[in-house]
Amino acid sequence: MTHSTNPYLPAGLPIPVSEPDGLSEPYWAGLRAGRLLVQRCAHCGTWQFAPEWICHGCHAFDPAWVEVAPKGLIYSWERIWHPAHSALKDHGPYLAVLVELPHAGHVRMVGNLLGDPTQAVTIGAELQGVYEHHPDASPAYSLLQWRLADAADAANR
Ligand SMILES: [Zn+2]
Repeated sequence: MTHSTNPYLPAGLPIPVSEPDGLSEPYWAGLRAGRLLVQRCAHCGTWQFAPEWICHGCHAFDPAWVEVAPKGLIYSWERIWHPAHSALKDHGPYLAVLVELPHAGHVRMVGNLLGDPTQAVTIGAELQGVYEHHPDASPAYSLLQWRLADAADAANR
């Protein structure tokens, strides 16, 4: 199962939107369509995330966006007990992970690790992305959360 309608975090957090200049809009639009898009320079092949207007490898403008499989490895993680936002009061702990995508130039992105928030977390564990859609929000948005690949396999059986 790679789509979820059960939010990992409680309602009331700010809705993620693109910057006013639209830099990350392809990423957010991709998530709403259930697709993970990251930048890859059409000139030199450099992958990068988060998005930028120029390639950090060759300085060409407007790096291309390409779809990649929402799979990765835990590069780092943190179990968060302190509520960083009032909507998270009485919610902790929850797990934030820094996910590395080896098949996309080893770019890294931040997300949440689904499942028991007190679970043991292993660096290097394989993850499967889970699209969390919020179609009734204004504006509608989607997040990419992560679950252990083993757990995803179990859910698909
Ligand atoms: Zn480049």
